[in-house]
Amino acid sequence: MIVDSHTHGYSEEVLKDPRSFALVHKEPHWQELVCPKNKKSLQGWSTREKMIADMDNAMVDRAVLLGWYWENPETCALQNEWTSQWISRDPDRFIGFVSLHPGIQNPIESLKRSKDLGFLGIGECHPWLQGSSIRNDNWMNCMQFACDQGWPVTFHVTEPVGHDYPGRVQTPLEEFLWLARQLPALKIILAHAGGLFPFYELNPKIRPDLKNVYYDLAACPLLYDPSIYRKLIETVGMEKILWGTDYPLRIFPATQKVPDFKSFQNLISKEANLTEVERTAIFGTNFLSLL
Ligand SMILES: [Zn+2]
Repeated sequence: MIVDSHTHGYSEEVLKDPRSFALVHKEPHWQELVCPKNKKSLQGWSTREKMIADMDNAMVDRAVLLGWYWENPETCALQNEWTSQWISRDPDRFIGFVSLHPGIQNPIESLKRSKDLGFLGIGECHPWLQGSSIRNDNWMNCMQFACDQGWPVTFHVTEPVGHDYPGRVQTPLEEFLWLARQLPALKIILAHAGGLFPFYELNPKIRPDLKNVYYDLAACPLLYDPSIYRKLIETVGMEKILWGTDYPLRIFPATQKVPDFKSFQNLISKEANLTEVERTAIFGTNFLSLL
């Protein structure tokens, strides 16, 4: 079973005119990411049908549809409607995660409704970009809810010393350690190879506190040298690594006009020289074991 643990889906309205969508809904950060003013966008776009066809081409069985860390609670609610439609139409192909905003009213009521609609997790989260932090009470109540439900929570993670890009807002690594210690049973997924956080697991003083932390590989070809995949396995063990693309982002912009699922699978298999057991774990069963 092959599972992509990190993808995004957008409605037809967004696909038609992303810039107008961002303007109408007052989402300048997302606008700068997907339609930057002075350079080419890395964003690809895909309809539900095209995404399923691309998954079929790469023999991807299921994809996790992550929400987005929209700046407004209303846009998060809108995203949850799109995701809900996709997962109810194709429950065998899509796994839905909730878009969460730290300023949302009655968050637990809203999460319970999402649960009834079939959602199975929360993410992609970035409460700092939404003007708050992990340590906000509202936010922590939601994390407790996820913990009680056995839901994984995926966070966007930036590198503390990584390259600068427009609208970059830090996701302090020590905050994830704090969260892991507060809720040792919460399944925490740190996206984008955790902004290299996994290498802090070499510190024996914090390693035992990170048992509940996992790392997805979304967008890694844009960020890191390909030697990272084998190094991650050696450092934290294959059980903690989840394959994810960030589809429909174009993570191979030099060679690819449209996104796909196969190129990244091939790259990891080749660069890390994966064994069959590692392939099975990283490309699917690790994520499924979190549900
Ligand atoms: Zn991200």
